[in-house]
Amino acid sequence: MRSFFSWSIRTHLLLLVLAAAIPALALVWWSGQELEREAVDKANQATMHLASSMAQDLEQVEEYARVLLATLAQAPTIRQMDAAGARALLVQLNRQNPAYANLALIAPNGHVLALSFPHQGVVDVSGRKYFKDALRTGGFSVGEYEIGLASDRSVIHFALPVFGTNGSLVGVLAASYDLGALAQSFNSASLPEGSAMALSDARGVRLFRHPDSRRWLGREEHKDMWLGLLNLGEEGMTVAQGADGVKRLYAVKRLRIHKDDPSFLLLRVGIPEAKALAGVRRVKARNVALMVGATMLAAALAVMLGNLFIMRRLDRLTAAAERLGHGDLTARSGLGHDQGELGKLAESFDNMALALDTREAERVEFEAKLRHQAMYDPLTGLANRTLALDRIQQALTRCKRRDDVFYAVVIMDLDRFKVINDSLGHSVGDQVLEAVARRIVGTLRGLDTVARFGGNEFILLLEELATPGEAIRIVKRLRGVIMAPVPVAGHEVQTSASFGIVLSPNTFERAEDLLQSAAIALHAVKQSGRGRFKVFTPRMLLHAVERLTLEQELRRALEQGQFVVHYQPIWDLSSTRLVGFEALVRWAHPERGMVGPGSFIALAEETGIILDLGRVVLTRACADLAEWRERDPAARKLFVAVNLSNKQFCQHTLVEQVSEILRRTRLPADRLKLEITESTIMVNAESALVMLKRLKALGVQISIDDFGTGYSSLSYLQRFPVDTLKVDRSFVGRLGLDPENQEIVRAIVALAHSLGLDVVAEGVEESGQAAMLRALGCECVQGFYFSRPLDVDRAQETIGAQREQ
Ligand code: C2E
Ligand code: CA
Ligand code: CA
Repeated sequence: MRSFFSWSIRTHLLLLVLAAAIPALALVWWSGQELEREAVDKANQATMHLASSMAQDLEQVEEYARVLLATLAQAPTIRQMDAAGARALLVQLNRQNPAYANLALIAPNGHVLALSFPHQGVVDVSGRKYFKDALRTGGFSVGEYEIGLASDRSVIHFALPVFGTNGSLVGVLAASYDLGALAQSFNSASLPEGSAMALSDARGVRLFRHPDSRRWLGREEHKDMWLGLLNLGEEGMTVAQGADGVKRLYAVKRLRIHKDDPSFLLLRVGIPEAKALAGVRRVKARNVALMVGATMLAAALAVMLGNLFIMRRLDRLTAAAERLGHGDLTARSGLGHDQGELGKLAESFDNMALALDTREAERVEFEAKLRHQAMYDPLTGLANRTLALDRIQQALTRCKRRDDVFYAVVIMDLDRFKVINDSLGHSVGDQVLEAVARRIVGTLRGLDTVARFGGNEFILLLEELATPGEAIRIVKRLRGVIMAPVPVAGHEVQTSASFGIVLSPNTFERAEDLLQSAAIALHAVKQSGRGRFKVFTPRMLLHAVERLTLEQELRRALEQGQFVVHYQPIWDLSSTRLVGFEALVRWAHPERGMVGPGSFIALAEETGIILDLGRVVLTRACADLAEWRERDPAARKLFVAVNLSNKQFCQHTLVEQVSEILRRTRLPADRLKLEITESTIMVNAESALVMLKRLKALGVQISIDDFGTGYSSLSYLQRFPVDTLKVDRSFVGRLGLDPENQEIVRAIVALAHSLGLDVVAEGVEESGQAAMLRALGCECVQGFYFSRPLDVDRAQETIGAQREQ
């Protein structure tokens, strides 16, 4: 059974209407009952009235009979007991008083002498009460109700003795009042059809009934019915079923001739209930029918109007909600937003749907934005690395199946971009990138992909190439375009680009590998210079792998202390005395033996390992010299020259580091000489000047290494707080072979002397070279001719040998 609350609103409406109709129906029913009661009352009044008037009639009957009999007893024919004359008189009187069934003159022996109607034979009434009472009392007597002997009708007898002229009793006069006469007033009362009246004696014997008097005469009343009637007392009303089976409303009344007469007649007058209530019942039925009709109409109206005003709108709302539930966010109720509850509900629903819709739209937009962000570079609007990789992967798969078209993946790197960024600011840097992006897009074909990733690197995917060579042509064109100065914020920014290229066909499976290979090619370009391009070859990969392994090995070697420092003596040319050492790092490789710096310094520099390595070397060199100084006074005048890489020189904390090492090793600052290459100093001369001054302030000496290979600015050279110029080995090695070199060396020595600096020539391998350098006025030398780089013990021995000289 479904719960009450799960019924539909229609059913609820219907129930409401029915509930509202119940009191009205009850009222109609109740008023019907009321009407019925009134009708019953009316019927009862009528019957009771009739009964009362009959009772009065009966009371007068005795009076009349007394008068009639008394008058008759004076008639001479009667007093003479003249049978013939008496009969004529009686007949005449009876005709005048038809209410009497019979008038009779009775002889004292009880035999009837004369009758008011013709009768044959002897009628003996000597046994009757009225006759005996009249004889006994000699006055008026009243008999019982009974069936007349002569008339054979329900009668009541009255009797009066007749006295002759001599005053003796000569006979008795009797009058039999016909109870049927009472029916006259019943008839004149014009009660409804089926009405009936009945008279019974005190024992319950039916004396009279109207209509149909004969049929019921002398019968006894039904016992229950009779008891019911007796219970009513002197008079009352009752509803009972008559002997003929008809249900009637009866007025019941006891009738007496005398007030104190214990015997009585029971009169009842009845109207058929059906007849009495017919009108009222009709009205009642009509009213109920009308009410039921009205209720049904109201219910139908309620359903109809409910449909019109509620259900139709609710259905639309439900349908909209269902659509919304199924994900259709455009679903709206389509109903007016009026003040009613449904209007408010519709408004709330529509607002909710709109909010959902808006939020969904925002979500979709946001997702699209995210997707775009995930795929595109926000600065240039170019594809990003992810998208580029995706496209490259597609090209890779596509070209696996074809060998008539080619593609190329190019990584392009803007040279010196960091310098632009650092010197002109990031916003200029960004503008340069945007301009470059535009140039690339303008140069490439529509089907190519251009992406930017990581600062100043761009990825180009060139597709549908007729030959691999076409890619080279495109890259060359692009290189030219990039070289044109970019006008940004009042500057003309000059840029160039380097390119690493991977061509198809190749054996790559994954876009990442392909891209990495392009990066390796680019790296190879950067090793050898700028503004150029290189096509990736498997050898590059091999090389790159080697470098990667080497890098790992270097880190491990640093951790395990595999680096040792060798010392190459530096000599004074004129006195051939030892003046100092150059500290040169070596890698005591467990398998490969002693490995020279040529095979790892560049990589250490590139990877930043040089910072740690440099500190190790500097510390070792300082510590070694400090120890020698302690052991051997001859070491006191010596210095140790330590090479500083470009990265080390650019370190902000370099000065603190050097001073800390000097403090820790307790080496006097002026015994340390830092060698910095000419190119390192000149690339950023201004900041180099600051750093050199700070180092100099510590008290250390400064030497410019590899001098002559870079482009030194004389004006800077003048301002640098430098002690020594180291003539590069390349010039020394060719002394004597090439007269030009001799001039260069001479010029360097002259320059150094004019600036107050001394000169060290490195890479002296022959005595001739030494002689020439001496002739040119060079102070110090260093080279295999004098001594190779030595391990710590040998170096210490060399110091000892000096003392012995
Ligand atoms: P460099 O500073 O020019 O060092 C001198 C190099 O010339 C050394 O090579 C030395 O062994 C070599 N040499 C000396 N005399 C002769 C000679 O007569 N003939 C020839 N052919 N060569 C000679 P090395 O030890 O292989 O070092 C190579 C370079 O590695 C150094 O060049 C220097 O730039 C770098 N280097 C070495 N040790 C360090 C270090 O501890 N730190 C840094 N940053 N660089 C270092
Ligand atoms: Ca050096
Ligand atoms: Ca050098």
